Amino acid sequence: MENYQQNKVVEVLKLLKYMGLEEVDNSLSSISPFGDLIDEVKNCKKCDLHKVRTNAVFGKGPINAKIMLIGEAPGRDEDLKGLPFVGKAGRELDNMLSSAGIEIDEVFITNVIKCRPPGNRNPEPYEMVKCNPYLVRQVEVIRPKVIVLLGNIALSLVTGTASGITKMRGKTMEYMSYPAIPTFHPAYVIRNPDSGKTVIEDFKKAVRSIA
Ligand code: SF4
Repeated sequence: MENYQQNKVVEVLKLLKYMGLEEVDNSLSSISPFGDLIDEVKNCKKCDLHKVRTNAVFGKGPINAKIMLIGEAPGRDEDLKGLPFVGKAGRELDNMLSSAGIEIDEVFITNVIKCRPPGNRNPEPYEMVKCNPYLVRQVEVIRPKVIVLLGNIALSLVTGTASGITKMRGKTMEYMSYPAIPTFHPAYVIRNPDSGKTVIEDFKKAVRSIA
């Protein structure tokens, strides 16, 4: 079923459920590949970030994406819109993907944590621990061919420490048994424009790895 049709069917089923037809639960889980996960994230209160968010940001992209990008956390624009990478960093990401021959619509994009930390501070370790099961379930559903880790926080999923991106970028690692290539976060590229070429090379490496 095409994504658009699938979303419409899910909307109708949710409406029926709202009207009292509890029997639609099974249909919902079988039609939406993420099951109730999107609603779980939207309504999550597992860490204190829920108190300061406008929207939890689940992620976006096709369910059968071969490339999955994992960033750090939603920023101000993402928090307001409920979508990942929609601000300046998003435009930078679009441009770099395009330069590597990747369409933004081909990739699934999400973050290590789904709610914006105040003032864009780094996520606290306890917030990452609380939020990680959502990311794990996203990876399990999408089963990407390759994961690109954007920045130090995403790299810490593999190394356990939020540093070292300069040394580790471009190396093929493993996250949840999937090949994972760390590279600089688009926000870093905005501050350090010369690093954009490096990110494009890392994206190209990801593409070659699934060819
Ligand atoms: S950051 Fe994650 S764990 Fe914390 S409230 Fe948001 S969705 Fe829940």
